[in-house]
Amino acid sequence: EKVIAWFRQDLRLEDNPAWIRAVESGKGVIPVYIHAQKEAGKWSLGAASKWWLHHALKDVEKQLARFGLRMIYRQGESEAELFALLKETGSRSVLWNRCYEPHRMRIDGRIKSRLKEEGCEVWSGNASLLREPWEVSTQTGNPYKVYTPYSRTCAKMPDHEPLSTTKSPKVPKDWPKGVSLEDLSLLPEISWDKGFHEFWNPTRKGGMGRLGAFLKAPVKHYDTGRDFPSEDGTSRLSPYLHFGQIGPREVAATVRKQTESSGLKTFYRELIWREFAYHVLYHFPDTPEKPLQPKYKRFPWVDEPAHLEAWQKGMTGYPIVDAGMRQLWKVGWMHNRVRMIVGSLLVKHLLHSWEHGAEWFWDTLVDADLASNTLGWQWAGGCGADAAPYFRIFNPITQGEKFDGEGDFIREYVPELAQVSDKYINCPWEMSEGEQIRANCRIGQDYPAPVIDHKAGRERALEALQKLKEAD
Ligand code: FAD
Repeated sequence: EKVIAWFRQDLRLEDNPAWIRAVESGKGVIPVYIHAQKEAGKWSLGAASKWWLHHALKDVEKQLARFGLRMIYRQGESEAELFALLKETGSRSVLWNRCYEPHRMRIDGRIKSRLKEEGCEVWSGNASLLREPWEVSTQTGNPYKVYTPYSRTCAKMPDHEPLSTTKSPKVPKDWPKGVSLEDLSLLPEISWDKGFHEFWNPTRKGGMGRLGAFLKAPVKHYDTGRDFPSEDGTSRLSPYLHFGQIGPREVAATVRKQTESSGLKTFYRELIWREFAYHVLYHFPDTPEKPLQPKYKRFPWVDEPAHLEAWQKGMTGYPIVDAGMRQLWKVGWMHNRVRMIVGSLLVKHLLHSWEHGAEWFWDTLVDADLASNTLGWQWAGGCGADAAPYFRIFNPITQGEKFDGEGDFIREYVPELAQVSDKYINCPWEMSEGEQIRANCRIGQDYPAPVIDHKAGRERALEALQKLKEAD
């Protein structure tokens, strides 16, 4: 007898409910990964996510090999592939962990019904969240739209311990056919990934190493350190959590073992932001395409393509924004404070729809996550759950001065500004001609002038908001 363990965003063998259940069944375990690139439609994996996925799968392959197991890769439609596998292997049992993206839930629901109809065993568990999105609700039984009361309710609910098993998986006698990991073509054809390799170790061991190192030192200063992009002050666990190489139960359990500190509490609250993002996506599944606050559907966006391009390339003339956008391009990740600053510039100063930002991040982030990305962009756009109100507009100059006053982050990612003094590092256009020559940075030649004047951009954004209000 055989059981199919279907891997998705749960690429680990520890604290993995479906995997552990498959192992404990005593049946021959067939690990399967189905690359169903087209099923997600607009939200099919971006280039940076594919890069990460390749390495995460390779890593699971190695862990499986220690037990004498293989990963069976298939591509196509998940329903068709899964049922073909059942036929080929004679298995009558499929186990997986739940995903919460709307398209995935639709397909999983269909597969589950069909498996039941055919008399197969089908079981799904939770590998991705501390609490299921439907377990948390207001006193009137409704979903939350605001983080603080959501997190208060969560705090009253106990965290579950990570799961484990002492058993080893049974190796099946024969294997179904599959393609190789390389056949999935997840890696780039032109190798743009040097910066990724330098910045990341995309394996479970790499993630555990990050968690350990973070809890040893940066967490102590996390309350303030997490706002400074030049510091290694945050955990950088987001891609590991997204792909399930580390589970949130494991992170929470490790956190509980530490001596309590305010940094640790703040870090735990960030994990709850991730949960809140899934809660919102689950209850409001059209938010990746539609603002949660419906009036913003009529917002008078300007959507100037040249501005979008300047933003994407890190050529807006605002150093902190350009450093962030280039960090994203180079390493597939951006510091949270800088995500908020670049988001504000795009949506407010440049009047581009938040959706354009979400799409660019989707293709370039290694941690691209439909729940957190949607929440983040609707937050930046002022149109989502518990969002910053639209009229609060970040000043990219003072934000830069506050969080990268000495320009260490800016100089790392914007080499044209390497010789600009601290005084001008966040406003290089204010340098005199002589200063520009001495700094080897002529504005308009070596580095762009601001794509829009801060004051003018701010006023234009407020006028657009006013227009929306008048149209109401
Ligand atoms: P840490 O500060 O170490 O936080 C620990 C963990 O908590 C993170 O790994 C993450 O899982 C979670 N977390 C922290 N902040 C948030 C948050 N605001 N919302 C949800 N979860 C959070 N995060 C993603 O994982 N994927 C995305 O696609 C994504 N897109 C974003 C887009 C915008 C415009 C903004 C403003 C934020 C976005 N975030 C996204 C949230 C946040 O920026 C990242 O989770 C964080 O920067 C990851 O770095 P870290 O692991 O070092 O975070």
